[in-house]
Amino acid sequence: MKAKELYDAIVVGAGFGGSSCAGLLAKRGLRVLLLEKNARAGGKAMTLTKGGYSYTAWVVIGAPVQGNLYEAVLKELDVEDDAELVAPGPGGSLYRNSTGEYVSMPRMPPDQVDPNALFDWLEVKEAERDEALRLFTELTFMPPHEMAALHDITFDDWLGRYHVPAGMYAFLVSLCCDGMFMVPVDCLEAAEAIRSLQDMFLRNGGLFCIGGFGQVAEAYCEAVRRNGGTVIMKTRAERILIERGVVTGVATARGRFHAPVVISNAGIQPTVLKLAGEEHFDKGYINYVKDLVPSWALLGYRYFLDRPVTDAPFGVVFSNESPWSLDRFLKARAGDASREGVVYYEVPSNYDPHAAPPGRQVLITGSYCPADPGMTKKEIMDWAGAGEATIFKAIPGLEKAIQRKELYTARDVSNLTRDSVLPGHGGETIGLGQIVGQCGPNKPSIKAPIGGLFFVGCDAGGQGVGTQQAIHSGMKVADAVLRYHRMRNATPG
Ligand SMILES: Cc1cc2nc3c(=O)[nH]c(=O)nc-3n(C[C@H](O)[C@H](O)[C@H](O)COP(=O)(O)OP(=O)(O)OC[C@H]3O[C@@H](n4cnc5c(N)ncnc54)[C@H](O)[C@@H]3O)c2cc1C
Repeated sequence: MKAKELYDAIVVGAGFGGSSCAGLLAKRGLRVLLLEKNARAGGKAMTLTKGGYSYTAWVVIGAPVQGNLYEAVLKELDVEDDAELVAPGPGGSLYRNSTGEYVSMPRMPPDQVDPNALFDWLEVKEAERDEALRLFTELTFMPPHEMAALHDITFDDWLGRYHVPAGMYAFLVSLCCDGMFMVPVDCLEAAEAIRSLQDMFLRNGGLFCIGGFGQVAEAYCEAVRRNGGTVIMKTRAERILIERGVVTGVATARGRFHAPVVISNAGIQPTVLKLAGEEHFDKGYINYVKDLVPSWALLGYRYFLDRPVTDAPFGVVFSNESPWSLDRFLKARAGDASREGVVYYEVPSNYDPHAAPPGRQVLITGSYCPADPGMTKKEIMDWAGAGEATIFKAIPGLEKAIQRKELYTARDVSNLTRDSVLPGHGGETIGLGQIVGQCGPNKPSIKAPIGGLFFVGCDAGGQGVGTQQAIHSGMKVADAVLRYHRMRNATPG
């Protein structure tokens, strides 16, 4: 095939990482080509529209609300009007207390949280409250230099420094961390967890987008076009072209596109092992890439309802039994322990009046499962059944209001976003697992050991929760690529 065009940079994938990076580079004057295999942008937070309903493909709850990066990049790209962010207020989280009853989180203005109301809800005894308050305060106001000393321990190790009441442990681990990071608490990196919890406690969680989160990534793509770049959807990058250790472009079914920089949002393992090819890297790097551990996955249902069953826009259902440890997860997977874990739910029409036909609701759930797209039907149904049993108990009117339900699994996540190139990988919720050894200074470099090849998205360069982490990476990679581009142009030869 003949060379089609020359760009300064080709971005593979219009997830939150790829689309934000492409938008920023185009705005800063680079000739950018953005290639996406799907018909819509947004990757793991894409919007789906069907039968009068529109919603993010699965439960996606944005955080933080104040100072979020979705907005920072929308503003920088001058496309703020293309995506409307909303913070519908407190969620409808439900805690199963010692009587077995699901009790709603007390409603409080976000800036006036009464710790005693929270402790009452979580059944923290009088004698335990001073210690619980000490933990909350030390976590919320820990200065960055203290956090920097916590890259080598897990969040569970850090919690072990306190006497944490069971309800408070379930709140911090299940309600907050299990879903934000999708890795068990005894693997989760302490510094990453504490920084994101501070964001949530000080700047709130529960941000959404009218029309689904995919609108934000679509707006970033629009910025590429408005700044003279090209966006080609429904076009898969089949190979990253490399000659003598340097990238030269990308091969697709539509032909080859050429550029001295390729930025891949396809995931570090699919990029290295499949798109570029093992033969271009030394064995040590290949082993390093193969050893990286992905986050775990969510599966769940989209329940299409003939009547509203809740006025909560979103919520988390949890109990003292729901926090995931590595050991319990492995036993649950083998069928030797309970699969009961945290369940997330989102009801788009409770923050977006156009998300469902009048009088109807779609309620979307998510609960833990392995990231393996190859799970058997029985395994899928065992995990899905555990999540469904919990949500049916927590929201009593739900089961009877169901007109139709759709199951989504790790396989759907992989098919939509990330190729499975290693056994058990592909359906991960976040991307790279935010575990000890893979965060902060130990995160993979955004620059591959190939001239001009960069990674963007949740596998490199960012920190924080899911979509925010991907955009954070997009911003950092845009800065690095701009520097690379300038230096390359300034260097003779
Ligand atoms: C079920 C579920 C629930 C979640 N809940 C939350 C939540 O509550 N809050 C939150 O913040 N985050 C949540 N996340 C996580 C968040 O959506 C992701 O971490 C984030 O969107 C990942 O962005 P990314 O840019 O790293 O990659 P992706 O979103 O994976 O984007 C990669 C893009 O590259 C494209 N691509 C891949 N290969 C190719 C190729 N060869 N050629 C062309 N294009 C290609 C894909 O189609 C995709 O568009 C959730 C994710 C899932 C799956």
